[in-house]
Amino acid sequence: MRRLWVVALVAGIIAPAFAGDVTLEAKSSYEEGWVPGSWGHYQCVLHNDTEQAGKLTKVSVRLVLGGEMVAGPWDTKLDVDLPPGKETKWSRACLFPMDVYEKAKPGKVTVIGEMTAIVSGEEHKLPFTFEVAGSQLAEPLKTMKGRCAGLSLQASRFDDWNNCRSVVRWIDQAYAAMHDLTGYTPRDGKVLILKEVPPIPAWAWASDPIELNTRYVDDAVDEAQHGILPFGWVHEMGHVFDMDEYKPWYCWNSALSEWQANWKLCYAIETMEDQSFCMNWGRFTGGSYPPPVQKKRYAVPARQFVDAFFLFWGDRYLAAPERTWDTMNSDEWHSFHQRIQRAYGWEPYKLWYRTFKRFQDAGLERPETAEEQLHLTAAILSHATGVDLAPIFQRWRMPVTQADMEAIAARYPIEKEPNVAPVAAREAAAGGS
Ligand SMILES: [Zn+2]
Repeated sequence: MRRLWVVALVAGIIAPAFAGDVTLEAKSSYEEGWVPGSWGHYQCVLHNDTEQAGKLTKVSVRLVLGGEMVAGPWDTKLDVDLPPGKETKWSRACLFPMDVYEKAKPGKVTVIGEMTAIVSGEEHKLPFTFEVAGSQLAEPLKTMKGRCAGLSLQASRFDDWNNCRSVVRWIDQAYAAMHDLTGYTPRDGKVLILKEVPPIPAWAWASDPIELNTRYVDDAVDEAQHGILPFGWVHEMGHVFDMDEYKPWYCWNSALSEWQANWKLCYAIETMEDQSFCMNWGRFTGGSYPPPVQKKRYAVPARQFVDAFFLFWGDRYLAAPERTWDTMNSDEWHSFHQRIQRAYGWEPYKLWYRTFKRFQDAGLERPETAEEQLHLTAAILSHATGVDLAPIFQRWRMPVTQADMEAIAARYPIEKEPNVAPVAAREAAAGGS
């Protein structure tokens, strides 16, 4: 900790005046330690006891064993205010590689870091250090598998859980539905396991296996025991079905990535053969149409949940002309596409995934700009529905014209080999008028 000095001018005499410290304390966010091979988390508490506003500009962290650096250093630029006379809390995730844990066990790993603060134009280095162990759950895991997916939780969670087989069947059917939607088999067809882990800096990760933060598993299991399919479990499965090298064709920002996880969830919960579960609308209160009762648990059938929450979500965006399309959040993208889906069915979206896969497999380059990627989406969906969707995109203030779609269609073989027959073609084949 370094003392900060300010220079005071008193009656023409230059004299140093003590103005206090900037201090830093850091520790792991989890007393249990960090999950080996996953992400840990730490928090810093800073006190700026000077009279000057400051800024944190950088943090550098490394993992050390026996004096030797074993991971890192990870340097990150920061722009965090340090108001005078105040406490500032700052926290961050940190990788905890499996090989580092293996080398250290049963001992601890030392986390050594340094923050850089600027106060009154002067740079100050604030070192910190703490130790962290590999975390373990209290109990061994027990795994229940279906054909394609399964649950791996602390063993006693399965005691007196009467409908656990149904819940595993739901997860299994959700997997099959996502495969049906995307045509994709993630991770070479390996059974997709949702695995309970000690605390991680997220509700869950779509890692391999999917990691479920133990702090939220109680609640999810309780929902499941009451016939509710836990949203987050299926959402994470949705991320796993984002098709690796194909994903950048349709996800060019994080809002679209989150939309895609929920999009697959919605297809799954609507089309699963076993519809004996409900969804918990009570967790989702921010939509354009709030649930009629404000309570933590408000169970509704899957289709109602999709419509009540996602389908109508975009009403506020549509009613706010100052909003531009590039500010749309994941639920707004969802609402936009869900309306196209409600009008023309899911088949155009099945074709959409398969078209991108075909382009990627053929070695085609993605469009360079977000606008062109949007044009490509509009062109594929227009082709798949047999409808000029440009006016629908424009209604959502997206820069898509028929000329844009024609220009992009000249660069990509959209019309070739639809794996799924477009709606218009199917209706013509069925003799519809
Ligand atoms: Zn997500």
